[in-house]
Amino acid sequence: MPNQSIKEEILALRAEVAHHAHLYYVEDAPVISDFAYDALFRRLEELEAAHPEFADPNSPINRVGGQPLDAFVKVTHSVPMGSLTDVFNEEELRAFLARVNAQIPDAVCSVEPKIDGLSVALTYENGQFAGGATRGDGLVGEDVTQNLRTIGSIPLTLRESVPQLCVRGEVFLPRAKFYALNAAREAAGEALLANPRNAAAGSLRQLDPKIAAERGLDIYVFNLQSAEWGEMTAPDTHSASLAQLRALGFKIIPHAVMPADPDLVIAEIARIGAMRDSLPCDIDGVVIKLDRFADRQLMGMGTTTPKWAVAYKFPPEQKQTVLRDITVAVDRTGVLTPTAVLDPVRLAGTTVSRATLHNLDFIREKGLMLGDVVTVQKAGDIIPELVAVHPEKRTGEERPYDMPSHCPSCGEPVFRDEGEAAIRCTNAACPAQLARAIEHFASKNAMSIDGLGPQIVELLLQNKLIADAADLYTLQPEQVASLDRMGEKSAQNLIDAIARSKEAGLERLIFALGIRNVGAVAAAALAQYAGTLEACFELSAEELCSIDDFGQITADCVINYFSHPQNRVLCQRLIDAGLRTTPVQMPSADTLAGMTFVLTGTLPTLTRAEASAMITDRGGKVSSSVSKKTTYVVAGEEAGSKLTKAQALGIPLLDEAAFLALLSEL
Ligand code: AMP
Ligand code: ZN
Repeated sequence: MPNQSIKEEILALRAEVAHHAHLYYVEDAPVISDFAYDALFRRLEELEAAHPEFADPNSPINRVGGQPLDAFVKVTHSVPMGSLTDVFNEEELRAFLARVNAQIPDAVCSVEPKIDGLSVALTYENGQFAGGATRGDGLVGEDVTQNLRTIGSIPLTLRESVPQLCVRGEVFLPRAKFYALNAAREAAGEALLANPRNAAAGSLRQLDPKIAAERGLDIYVFNLQSAEWGEMTAPDTHSASLAQLRALGFKIIPHAVMPADPDLVIAEIARIGAMRDSLPCDIDGVVIKLDRFADRQLMGMGTTTPKWAVAYKFPPEQKQTVLRDITVAVDRTGVLTPTAVLDPVRLAGTTVSRATLHNLDFIREKGLMLGDVVTVQKAGDIIPELVAVHPEKRTGEERPYDMPSHCPSCGEPVFRDEGEAAIRCTNAACPAQLARAIEHFASKNAMSIDGLGPQIVELLLQNKLIADAADLYTLQPEQVASLDRMGEKSAQNLIDAIARSKEAGLERLIFALGIRNVGAVAAAALAQYAGTLEACFELSAEELCSIDDFGQITADCVINYFSHPQNRVLCQRLIDAGLRTTPVQMPSADTLAGMTFVLTGTLPTLTRAEASAMITDRGGKVSSSVSKKTTYVVAGEEAGSKLTKAQALGIPLLDEAAFLALLSEL
């Protein structure tokens, strides 16, 4: 075939694939079978592979994800990505509409769901997708073009070649995909993601676009940021701009246009609220914006948010159900933790059948009886809360509840510490505590052994392949492969992950031991002070108390831990297994002494705990609120009110890179 006609065939195939992808992802109305679509796609892939000279980043074949990146590049938004003023009740909403109506007699507004996802800006040049970025701090975001390209409902080539276009939308993970993802993570023993929003954020900020592609993200476009329309007429209302974007191939936000009449708007908010469960994504409220661009001009801007729009936030959803039973689990420290077993109810898009009850005091304070009608609420976390009990609904069939007098795992009697809410199993050989201790040992902030989740730990214990954490280091691949549902490959992966953990360093190792009151920060401080694990055995209370942030209680817990012969044996076996027993971090001088930092938002690579430890290690303070005394605010993605406050007070802001640079300079 001559090259020209190959190029034509490639272009025709691209257009055809893009057309069917649009029908599938945007219109939700495919006209050909998946099989026929795959055949077209494969034909295109083959042709493009044979003719790299015609490659185009916006070819549909590039939706599956290209090469991983080393880091995201920062980009400055051409139009700032602002935020909205929140209103929390009808009264505040009516006040907003009254302000609008006072200034604009015939005001018209657009009422739309507020998608609880991640805001992005998409830029097009001459009808071609040119790139996209996260919101970041509103002025500067991160270039996540590679990952955005994998989202089927983002057009790569527009249906009309408008010269320039920038739109804003909300990327989300459809709830069904979120459940599937969490089910897979649970099976693999990985930590669950708290909600679809976190999952979407994590997916969009993957350096490897193949992972983003697998997740199945979606988008609703809700704003025209800027445009040079060329031949097309520029819209003069928001709703007309959305219609135009729809015609260009975007998936746009559902919206209702109506007079700015409070009763109408409130009815629409109620309608959207009632649909909440049936929408494919989570929403956290409703946005009310003026429709005519000229009216927006009239209302103008406030200091940080426009005066022509508000976000009406939904209260956390609550439902009533029946408390059927209370089950009790034993945690790592032997504390008995009660969980409510509920009649399943649909709540904020999930089926809820459990709620945490904290401890016996909580049960007593609420006066809970088995069979009671209770109110549960979900506010962003996986596990809902029990917020109220309704004694007036009792029938007389309810039964009082008492915590067990014996450990549900080992059957030994349990004790209540003087002055503490906790009831505890003090049996050192309690199997439940052992399982929890090993899970903790392997967890992310401890030895970070990938793939060693609760299910595998349980299997290893049941099959007597391990009896404590040190036994992990003697496991053989064949032993692991012999476990239920364990292939040879995953067995080897686990063995490799265990071997890698040997180098984790003393900071993590001390944390992994699970000494009471010794969290990651205290563990790191102890590691720096002691220098080796053996040295920890001999530290006196006085020495321990001289460590920053160590009080008498923590010191006692450390002494108590190392004075138990069986704990010493465990430590010795870990040393013998070849674990690194010295710190990985260099001891640092107090370069940040006298400085106070506030952390806000999600940093690209550091966790909160890590960033905090880096500050406190250097003698700096971490505070939870911004004040005039704050030296720096370290702000990441989706930073909230702390950022606004810092800007108001003129406190210098650092992003992660600047923060790390500061640490290395000082
Ligand atoms: P906030 O961050 O609370 O100020 O709320 C504003 C955020 O809501 C914006 O960053 C958008 O990402 C998001 N959002 C979701 N849906 C919409 C919508 N329909 N219109 C405007 N903003 C929306
Ligand atoms: Zn027990």
